[in-house]
Amino acid sequence: MAEAREKKDHDSRNHRYSSTYPVDHRPQCKGRDGTGDAGGDSQQAESRRQLLGRHPPIDRVFGQKRHQRRQHIRIHSHREGPQRESADGEELAGARQSRFRQDVQDGKILVRHCRLTRPFPDASTSTIEREARLKIAILGGGISGVTLGRLLAADNHDAVVFEKSDRAGGLCKSRVVDGFTYDEAGGHIIYSKDTDVLNWQIERCGGPEGVHKTVRQTRIRWHDRYVPYPFENGVGHLTKEAIVECMDGYIEAHVQRRLGQTCPKNFKDWIDWRMGSGFAKHFMVPYNEKIWCCDLSTMASEWVAGRVPEAPVTDILKSAVGMQTDGYSHQSIFYFPLEGGFETMVRGTIENSGFDLRLNSPVESVAQTKDGFTVNGESFDLVVNTAPLPLIEPAIEGIPAEIRGMIHKLEPISVISILFGMKLNEPMPDYSWIYLPFPEQGPANRVTFFSNYSPRNAPDGHGSFMAEVTHRGDLRPDAQWVKDLGASLGKAGVLDPKDIVTTDWTDNRFAYIDQNLGFAERIEKVRAWFDQSGYITFGRFGRYEYHNSDQCIMRAREVHEHIREIAASGQPARPTFT
Ligand SMILES: Cc1cc2nc3c(=O)[nH]c(=O)nc-3n(C[C@H](O)[C@H](O)[C@H](O)COP(=O)(O)OP(=O)(O)OC[C@H]3O[C@@H](n4cnc5c(N)ncnc54)[C@H](O)[C@@H]3O)c2cc1C
Repeated sequence: MAEAREKKDHDSRNHRYSSTYPVDHRPQCKGRDGTGDAGGDSQQAESRRQLLGRHPPIDRVFGQKRHQRRQHIRIHSHREGPQRESADGEELAGARQSRFRQDVQDGKILVRHCRLTRPFPDASTSTIEREARLKIAILGGGISGVTLGRLLAADNHDAVVFEKSDRAGGLCKSRVVDGFTYDEAGGHIIYSKDTDVLNWQIERCGGPEGVHKTVRQTRIRWHDRYVPYPFENGVGHLTKEAIVECMDGYIEAHVQRRLGQTCPKNFKDWIDWRMGSGFAKHFMVPYNEKIWCCDLSTMASEWVAGRVPEAPVTDILKSAVGMQTDGYSHQSIFYFPLEGGFETMVRGTIENSGFDLRLNSPVESVAQTKDGFTVNGESFDLVVNTAPLPLIEPAIEGIPAEIRGMIHKLEPISVISILFGMKLNEPMPDYSWIYLPFPEQGPANRVTFFSNYSPRNAPDGHGSFMAEVTHRGDLRPDAQWVKDLGASLGKAGVLDPKDIVTTDWTDNRFAYIDQNLGFAERIEKVRAWFDQSGYITFGRFGRYEYHNSDQCIMRAREVHEHIREIAASGQPARPTFT
C-alpha cells in the first residue's frame, strides 16, 4: 500500500515539474526499466542531430557564460605531450588520441564549434576550439551520477548511468510509509553556500513553490533541558557547575594556544586543545564517541580543523552570563522539497534530462582497451565513477595490488534512519533537529523533527520524527530494537511512545567516512592513482570526500568542465579538483 501511494505521489509530481530545459527541445530519459522514451538508437541520434545548434541554456543555470569558460586548447603531439606516469598509460593515451583524430577525419566523431588556425585535420599542431560527442559511462546513480548525466546530456554526449539499485538517488533517497515521508539516510536539507548551486537544487524541486523554507532551530538535549546549538553559544543554559567547568577549560585552552601549543594530530586531543576540558566532557566527547563509534584518539583531527569555526571568546563569555549570542550562521535558513522527501531533487535532476538511466544494472566489469573502455562488455570513450570505491574496486581491471589493499581499508561508518510516525495531541515544537550526546539517552545521536521540514511529510493531525543511529556494520535492527529505541527517546523526553502510530527504518552501509589516523595518507594515494589512470572518480564515497549533496553537484560541474576539455582535445582524462 505504501509503495502504491509513493508511486501515485511520484506520478502526480511528474506533471508538476517545470524544467529549466524546454521539454520539446530535450530527448526524454530512456530507461531500461521502461520509463521515458524507449525509442531506438536511430531515433535518439536523430533527436540529437536536431539538437545541434540549439544548446540548452545550461550556463544560465550555473550563472556562467559558456564562451567565458571555453579555452583555446593546444593539442600536443604524442611525443611533445605532458609527462605520463606509466608506459602503459602513455600507450593508451597515444592510441586514444590518434583514434580520436582518425574518427574526426572519418566523420565518426561529430565536431562542433570548430575553429582552426591551421588546416584540419593536422590537429597535433593546431590551436583549435571544438567538441566531440563522446559515449560516457557513469557508474552509480546517486546525486553525483545523475547530475553529471544531466550536464553531459545537455552537451549532446551519450551519457549512460549504471545504477545497481531499482531507484536512483543513493543516500538522497526517500520513502513514503502509511502516508509518512522520510529520508532513508537521515534528515537531509537543501542548503549551499554557493547560490548558483542552491538555485539549481531548488529548481530541480520545481522552483521556489516546490520547496518549504525553514529558519533553523537546533538544540542539544542536555540531560533535563534543551540547550541552543552550537554548544559554546548555549553554555549559559547549563548548570552553574558545568558553566564554570566549560569556561575554565575554554580559557585555559585559549591561553595554551596563544602560548604556541601546536594542533594535535588526534581528534580527542584536538577537542581539548580547541574547546578545553569542560566542553569536551559536557558535549564534544560523548557526542562524537556516539556518532563515530570509536575511541576518538584513533581518529585524525585534520578533517575537522577547517569545518568548525572558532567562536570569539567574547561571545562565549556573553553566553555564559546569559546574554544571547547566535553562533555561526551556517545553514541558518534551509529548504526542503514540499513533497516526496529529499529524493524529489534527484527525480527533478533525472526528468527531461536526456541521459540513459539504467536501473538494476550493477557494474560488474570495467576495463581499458586501446580504443577506450568497456563497462559490462559495452564500449565507451570515457568512464566516470561515483559509486563507493570498495564496492566498485573488484569490477575495475588494472588497479595495482597496493592500491586495492588501501581501498579495502576504506571501511565506512553506517547509519540507520528510523521513522517514528506520531499522532499529534498538540503541535510539534518548532525544532529542526536535536542532538542526543549521552549513552543513557539511547543509541540515537540525532533526532530530526521531520514533519517540520515540510507540512506534507505527515498526514493531517500527525507529525514525524526521524532518529539516526550510526554503527560499524555490527547492528541488525528489528521491530523490538525499534520499539526499544522509541522507549529510550521517551525516557529522554523527546517523544511519547504511546503516540507512535508507524515505524520504519533503512540501514545505509556507506554513510560516514572513517577518519582514522591512516585515512588521509591512504586516500591521497588512491585518488592519485585514479587521477592518472584515465578514469575519473568523484562523489562522497567515489572520492571519499566528506561532502553534502551541494558539494557533490559542484564536483559534477568540475568534472563536466573537464569532459568539455577532453571532448575538445581528445586528450585522456587527467582531472584536477579544487
Ligand atoms: C546522515 C547523513 C545526513 C546528510 N545530510 C545531508 C544534508 O542535510 N544535505 C545534503 O545536501 N547532504 C547531506 N548528506 C550527504 C549526501 O547524502 C551525500 O553527499 C550524497 O547523497 C552523496 O551522493 P553520491 O552520488 O556521491 O553517492 P551515493 O548517494 O552513495 O551514490 C552512489 C550510488 O552508487 C550506486 N552503486 C554502488 N555500487 C554500484 C555498482 N557496483 N554498480 C552500479 N551502481 C552502484 C549506489 O546504489 C548509489 O546509488 C548527508 C549524508 C548522511 C549520511
